[in-house]
Amino acid sequence: MIRCDVLIVGAGPAGAIAALNLASSRQVLLVDKRIAPVARIGESLPPAARRLLTDMGLWDDFLRQGHAACYGNRSLWNGVAAEHDFIRDPDGQGWHLDRAQFESWLQAHAVNRGASLLTSTTLDSVTAIKDGWQVMLDTSTDCLEVQAKLLIDAGGRAASLGKQLGAGRQHHDSLVCLWLYGHDQHIAVDSRSQIEAVEQGWWYTASLPGQRRVLAFHTDSDLQNPANARELRSPAALLQAAMATTEISAQLDAAGFVADAEVATTAAHSATLQPVAGDRWCAAGDAAMSFDPLSSQGLFNAMYTGLAAALACDRTLSGEVGAFDDYGNELRRIETAYLRHLDFWYGQEKRWPDSAFWQRRHRRYVKATGQIS
Ligand SMILES: Cc1cc2nc3c(=O)[nH]c(=O)nc-3n(C[C@H](O)[C@H](O)[C@H](O)COP(=O)(O)OP(=O)(O)OC[C@H]3O[C@@H](n4cnc5c(N)ncnc54)[C@H](O)[C@@H]3O)c2cc1C
Repeated sequence: MIRCDVLIVGAGPAGAIAALNLASSRQVLLVDKRIAPVARIGESLPPAARRLLTDMGLWDDFLRQGHAACYGNRSLWNGVAAEHDFIRDPDGQGWHLDRAQFESWLQAHAVNRGASLLTSTTLDSVTAIKDGWQVMLDTSTDCLEVQAKLLIDAGGRAASLGKQLGAGRQHHDSLVCLWLYGHDQHIAVDSRSQIEAVEQGWWYTASLPGQRRVLAFHTDSDLQNPANARELRSPAALLQAAMATTEISAQLDAAGFVADAEVATTAAHSATLQPVAGDRWCAAGDAAMSFDPLSSQGLFNAMYTGLAAALACDRTLSGEVGAFDDYGNELRRIETAYLRHLDFWYGQEKRWPDSAFWQRRHRRYVKATGQIS
């Protein structure tokens, strides 16, 4: 049996950051079901992340990791080509991360600061006991009992710990993403990411470290149309659909993009956990609040809430009352601002009034703003 101050389920960005911020003063156990981080979509880190990395004492080491610089974003939305150049951003450039390396690096910092990391380990059950929790974990070989004073759910969209504690996920839409990796035959001159709206959703492409590239299409999982999610599950079909775009296809052509052999599908809807915190526990990152990839805010939110969850745990362990309530209230404020911005941006695309994908979003925009879109 292991005793610790804080047990964190999920060692992605949110969990690893919560761990590394607690580990120097508290006993922290960080567990993850994976044996090691894997390559997956979600690699654009906005310039503002620099502030968090600096505050946590990680910035100089982050710069040594060789992630690719991103100097801005381009979009084709409502027929208007726009550019957001980070030259005007006070925090400087953004980043296209090697995502698996970024997560391994955060985990290594957590361990160096004193956290214990258990991989290939999943949550089995959780029971409230006097002054804390009894948690049963399944390791690759064994069943392990942990007694923890506090818990953090950093298990991503599944939020398995929060759900076991009685919280529910509220879904705001049914967005899904189909994506594939590939490599660029030509060295990218333009490292900016590109977004383009189409009748049934929107496309995204960005160059990655090592002359790699990601291409992704976002639509609703339940739409029945020629571009529905099921039809596009082969690289040839996804590439063919991408070639019908204007800016995305031009970027793929210019880069000499060659796709890998597999299309992956992943949930990409906005969702929030209700509640995000309770007596002696809280959720951080996607487990607490999952962002639409259009916002490019998921990683920043995971980092920020990982840090904020660590502070709430530290205050609670120091005997303060109400730290988890403050944390929950702050996340509600973030959620309100995020949903307002999301509705606004989707409401700006007005070219396809008969498309179910855009109709749904326009209805939300009208409801949220009272304006006719
Ligand atoms: C299509 C798509 C594109 C995106 N693009 C971007 C982008 O460009 N920029 C950006 O900032 N964000 C992006 N995001 C969002 C970003 O990837 C997430 O917000 C971020 O990964 C959240 O980090 P997290 O640590 O909260 O969760 P995760 O990264 O999901 O980590 C959760 C961890 O918990 C582990 N786990 C889960 N369940 C259990 C369990 N029961 N027991 C033990 N371990 C468990 C998992 O193995 C995983 O390691 C994108 C998301 C999607 C869907």
